[in-house]
Amino acid sequence: MKKKEDNSKREIAQERIEILFEEAKKQALKGRLKLCNKYVFVARKISGKFKVKIPTELRRKFCHKCYHYLYPGINCNVRTNKRTQAVEYECKDCGKINRYSYIKEKREKQ
Ligand SMILES: [Zn+2]
Repeated sequence: MKKKEDNSKREIAQERIEILFEEAKKQALKGRLKLCNKYVFVARKISGKFKVKIPTELRRKFCHKCYHYLYPGINCNVRTNKRTQAVEYECKDCGKINRYSYIKEKREKQ
């Protein structure tokens, strides 16, 4: 019985994370980046507490060094690197380049 309860808690946690990122996106467009960073912080806390993973597409939305919310054109540069076959998200706050390989995605499309 307890296990079932845990699962529903985790489902809620997962949902919360998605909502937080959705909200962060809205706030980023309004220029409230500090608030976005707070949302990322809370989302990561929920993720750790309930042992739920932040979905891959959302993991790309924040810097993995300073954990700031990244919004292309506002505080991050996005480019692709042919040599490493990765999409690079450069965080303008700390300078970290977050790389995500696109090989897998390419394969899935074919
Ligand atoms: Zn950063």
